Amino acid sequence: MTRKILIVDDIKENLLSLGALLESNDYSYISSSGGKEALKILSTQHGIIDLIIMDINMPEMDGFQTAKLIKDRPKTENIPIIFLTAGREDYAKKMSGFLDGSVDFIEKPIDDVVLLSRIAAFMKFKKAHDELLRLNKGLHKKILECERVEEKLALSSIVFENSIEGIVITDVEGNIELTNPAFLKTTGYEEKEILGENMRILKSGKQDKEFYQEFWGSICGEGHWEGEIWNKKKDGGIYLEYLSVMSIKNANGETLRYVGFFTDVTDRNEAERLLIHNALHDTLTGLPNRLAFNNAINDAIKKAEEDSQLMTIMCIGIDRFKKLNDTIGHGAGDELLKQVVKRFQIITPQSTIISRLGGSEFAFLFPEISHEDDAFALAHHILEEIKSPFKINGNDNYITASIGIGIFPNDGETSEILVKNCILTLNRVKEQGGNSFQLFNHVMNMKAVEMVNIERNLRKALVKDEIIVYYQPKVNIQTGKIVGAEALVRWVRPEEGMVSPAKFIPIAEESGLICLIGEWVLREACRQAVEWHKCGHEDFSIAVNLSSRQFQERDLVATVRSTLKETGLDPNKLELEITESIIMGDVESAIFTMKELSVMGAKLSIDDFGTGYSSLSYLKRFPINTLKVDRSFICDMTENIDDAAIATTIISMGRTLNLKVIAEGVETKAQMEFLKKHNCDEIQGFYFSKPLPANEFKELLDNGDFDT
Ligand code: C2E
Ligand code: MG
Ligand code: MG
Repeated sequence: MTRKILIVDDIKENLLSLGALLESNDYSYISSSGGKEALKILSTQHGIIDLIIMDINMPEMDGFQTAKLIKDRPKTENIPIIFLTAGREDYAKKMSGFLDGSVDFIEKPIDDVVLLSRIAAFMKFKKAHDELLRLNKGLHKKILECERVEEKLALSSIVFENSIEGIVITDVEGNIELTNPAFLKTTGYEEKEILGENMRILKSGKQDKEFYQEFWGSICGEGHWEGEIWNKKKDGGIYLEYLSVMSIKNANGETLRYVGFFTDVTDRNEAERLLIHNALHDTLTGLPNRLAFNNAINDAIKKAEEDSQLMTIMCIGIDRFKKLNDTIGHGAGDELLKQVVKRFQIITPQSTIISRLGGSEFAFLFPEISHEDDAFALAHHILEEIKSPFKINGNDNYITASIGIGIFPNDGETSEILVKNCILTLNRVKEQGGNSFQLFNHVMNMKAVEMVNIERNLRKALVKDEIIVYYQPKVNIQTGKIVGAEALVRWVRPEEGMVSPAKFIPIAEESGLICLIGEWVLREACRQAVEWHKCGHEDFSIAVNLSSRQFQERDLVATVRSTLKETGLDPNKLELEITESIIMGDVESAIFTMKELSVMGAKLSIDDFGTGYSSLSYLKRFPINTLKVDRSFICDMTENIDDAAIATTIISMGRTLNLKVIAEGVETKAQMEFLKKHNCDEIQGFYFSKPLPANEFKELLDNGDFDT
């Protein structure tokens, strides 16, 4: 951008002649006809104006006034001004305000040579002035930089002194030159003891040669190393630090020093170790938990697969531990479990992995046992060893255990399946009385064979009259009168004797045979009831159980209707027992079926009430007549306050809903009296009678009322 001279004169001719003079001497210029206009130009173009030539006598604002304003403004104060005066009058006085060397004057008429030489002098001065300004600016910047460096140094020093990270600076040999308080605190040294010492003084001996090779390799190669390292304190104690070391190099890339930053992570490391340990271990026994055991099996599976090996897993449970635990107290129970674990560790092979699955159940992994026979021998040995007494608080405690055995890969190909199958087998052993072991495969095979057998025989049983119905009385609790009976199916096998419905009904359900059986029981029970009616027991009601499969059959309602018609039983004297789970499946269709049955006149009763999920709001929607309190609540009712509360709640709930309440499984006088006190309507149970064949039941009926 070209630099310019600003000329200010109210007389146009003067401006023109001055302009011509400047132009012919290679100066560019801007002209202005008065002070105000000059100020305006300066306000936007002050940056390119090097000099102002200004007339003093101007009408609006004279030269001095204008100059004063120019000199008052920081952006224009340094622009030199040459005044053009008509004479010398007042000159000294008026110029006194501007005597800073940047103002001059020339008398009119103007001598071109004088003016040009003054201009040249000012321009030279301006150049020097600008140069000075530039230098000054540079100097100022340098000073600022210095100040900033100083400030930075002060800050660094504060950080260095107060950092919670230990910091150490060494020379290239590793001799300590500088440390901060955190370093001294962690290592236990005083500054004067440690300065000049070599970093070797902190070596714990826990890292091997390879570690240091990698360490120096990284520092020399990448100029940096970071990681965990064990070091030694002044008192000999070792600590784990997270260290970051870097080399400090000069411009030529030569290493001058090393700086190390570290944090003592011993505590954190310990906490992490503990967390990991707790996530994978049982707190009572310290054994690996199920998660850790699964990991161990998965590792073993990988190895076994590589070597095409078999291996054995066992789940072992202490028989009836809950009862024992309640008897000896939980503290002693815990102690027993600990002793059991110790014994396990002694009697199992060295390579065994033992885990606590929870409660009194444990799992073993025997990576080296691949034969069924060896597994059986070992299981037998464990069961024998566990029988020796455990001394707790001076008392001998005797226990037995059950074992479920699984062999990889036959009994499961993943740890989850293997453990699940072993637990299944263990439960099966427990159900059969415990103190024994079984192989999963055998259990499953046996179960499958048993199912097929039962199903085949059940089909024949129907034809061969092996299926019969037993009757168990339902007694009015106030009067002691037998008001009805529940028809309970029995399977009498020629060789084996009586098979429990609990055993064959689930199989009959699965195969669909239940519908045939159910239909038969219904007909037989109705026929029997009509017979008893004829013998003078007109009020007698018969209750028949319906299975879920039967309940879902499309023609259930038709079957019931035709059976009633065929046998001539009054529908009011038939009660159908269904469980909560049956109706809670498809609620809407259940309500539909129940309504049809109820319209027909049959009564509906909810069996095993309290064990399902029925809510009050649902109960209101079902057309039911009776709630049958499940046996499990009755059995402990007089000892267990929770069970008592449930039983009494069901009774009072039944009352509010206008339902009859019957309690099943009543075995004692105490239970009977409790139920009577709480206004239960009817009871059924061994206290009065077991289920009986029809002829024996008839005798009971004829004998009259029970005492209640
Ligand atoms: P449920 O309907 O709850 O029948 C009551 C069961 O409790 C019967 O067992 C009965 O013998 C038993 N019981 C009665 N009083 C006492 C007592 O005081 N103490 C004890 N410990 N038990 C008592 P059961 O006859 O073995 O029948 C078991 C289940 O089999 C029945 O439970 C029922 O769900 C089913 N069931 C029986 N007969 C049939 C049937 O004809 N059809 C269908 N679908 N299921 C049936
Ligand atoms: Mg029943
Ligand atoms: Mg029941």
